[in-house]
Amino acid sequence: MPVTRCIGCRNYFAGPGRCPKCGADNSTPQMLRARAHASAGQRPLVGRSGTNGFAIAALVLGLLGISLLALVFGLVALKQIKEDRAQTGRGLALAGIWLAVAWTVLGVVLVVLLASG
Ligand SMILES: [Zn+2]
Repeated sequence: MPVTRCIGCRNYFAGPGRCPKCGADNSTPQMLRARAHASAGQRPLVGRSGTNGFAIAALVLGLLGISLLALVFGLVALKQIKEDRAQTGRGLALAGIWLAVAWTVLGVVLVVLLASG
């Protein structure tokens, strides 16, 4: 039997199927499970489902050119999204990180140009 990590209580059990501890249905694919769980209203995890806040912050900071913070927030977001499958926003976090990298490269190029000019 494969081991499943319950989306409801994060208990490990021999799955897939219904969690013996909290009864959450773990038989459907990851994303659907997360949504079904959220809409079922069992133990609402405030602030732990939906789009990751750090991911949004990373994208905004990246767009503003605040590269260091965008990079940090993006990495934090990726870590949190990886640990909590109910969260989305991986694309936003990656966009923030790449914007941070782009700004950093741009900054380095400008510094080099200014130094050599
Ligand atoms: Zn459970």
